[in-house]
Amino acid sequence: MLKFYNTLTRKKEIFKTRRDKKVNLFVCGITSYDFSHIGHARTYIIFDMIVKYLKQKGYNVFYLQNITDVDDKIINQAKRQKVSWKDLSRKFEKEYLKDMKALNINSVTKYARATGHIKEIISQVKRLLEKGFAYQIKDGIYYDISKFKNYGKLSRRTVLQAEDGISRIDEAKDKKNKGDFCLWKLSKRGEPSWPSPWEPGRPGWHIEDTAITEKYFGPQYDIHGGARDLIFPHHEAEIAQMEAISGKSPMVRYWIHAGFLTVSDKKMSKSLGNFITIRDFLEKYSPRILRLFVLKTHYLSPINYSEKEIDQVKKQLERIDEFTEKLKTQSSQPAADQPKAGKLIEKSKKEFEKAIDNDFNTPKAVAVIFEIISKGNALFDKNKLTPADARDILKFLKEADKVFNFIFWDKKEAVKIPSFIKKMVREREKARQKKNWKLADEIRKKIKQMGYQIKDTKKGSKVKKIK
Ligand SMILES: [Zn+2]
Repeated sequence: MLKFYNTLTRKKEIFKTRRDKKVNLFVCGITSYDFSHIGHARTYIIFDMIVKYLKQKGYNVFYLQNITDVDDKIINQAKRQKVSWKDLSRKFEKEYLKDMKALNINSVTKYARATGHIKEIISQVKRLLEKGFAYQIKDGIYYDISKFKNYGKLSRRTVLQAEDGISRIDEAKDKKNKGDFCLWKLSKRGEPSWPSPWEPGRPGWHIEDTAITEKYFGPQYDIHGGARDLIFPHHEAEIAQMEAISGKSPMVRYWIHAGFLTVSDKKMSKSLGNFITIRDFLEKYSPRILRLFVLKTHYLSPINYSEKEIDQVKKQLERIDEFTEKLKTQSSQPAADQPKAGKLIEKSKKEFEKAIDNDFNTPKAVAVIFEIISKGNALFDKNKLTPADARDILKFLKEADKVFNFIFWDKKEAVKIPSFIKKMVREREKARQKKNWKLADEIRKKIKQMGYQIKDTKKGSKVKKIK
């Protein structure tokens, strides 16, 4: 039974959908004004894992993500670069989608741009004005947080704190409350604008999400996700908007928030020089490394990126690769013996599911994978891993990888000589040096059974794969 932590109730809860096996899930997308960084990658790998797991459990998931393609950040960046806001935004949307493809994040059903939903946004602002939750001042239409009695129920706060300066609460002198946020900004000269019942303008940041989710899901849906730093004011604002409009509560049953990512124990920032884009990362490393790096930590926990940590992940992947090569070789042998590892595989399957069912505990599920690797290796060394076992373990790993995407996915095709074969070759060399011809011959036969051929030369033994 799947249960996970719900930010709204501060409790781990059993997951119940609104309608049978149907899941409507919305995750905040990017504001497209720059390359996405590895903090974004963390969030989107986590939700990709969650959606793939839900699908594996038989849920029919509609995964919706917005793209903020008009916003102060975009307009300012476009001015600096002397390009149009639209060109800039389309460019970084494309780069973002390229990054997602490279990371095998392919579970999103629909990406919805803010500017593709202006009609829906205007309709929401209109209803908020009619119901008395919004008011107009000189520079735009604002939401009056004092009118919504449940304001703060997600973040558990109502007053602005110092750090909220950075979290995009709009500044305007004649606002009614300090925390009121803008729904519709009247456009200044040279800024993008759309006609409206008021004056030409553009949407505030929070309104696009509820306009988009209302269109595709209606006023209530199953899960809303995003990074932790969006809880306040962004997600609080969404609740205030949608629940005020519909009069229905809750807008969303389950809120899932992904933990932060730091680089060398500091918040990523361009001025600190520790800012790593997904593109930078992929120039140096395989995308599998990033997926394992993210998933070996629980999604709620903070995660720290360092070269040392990445080296560790690389070694873990080598261990996985070596084992899967071994399984592939072994599984192609004629099946002489009955499977012996059936219990081990059954236990692993159960533990894997139990781990992810329990608040998406991927570190535990990763540990299950490494346990089957070490036990499988031990059986192999004792000549007790039968071809049937190898096939069954491969099958289990392939199922697990539908959620993880780092075990088999994107592994480079070039099959080098696996290190367990190299080890056997070295053992044979030693036997030959000791003139133990019988043992040397036995090892040679075993290597041949694995699909590799040994040729003895003056410089030592050479091994190659039999085609
Ligand atoms: Zn959002």
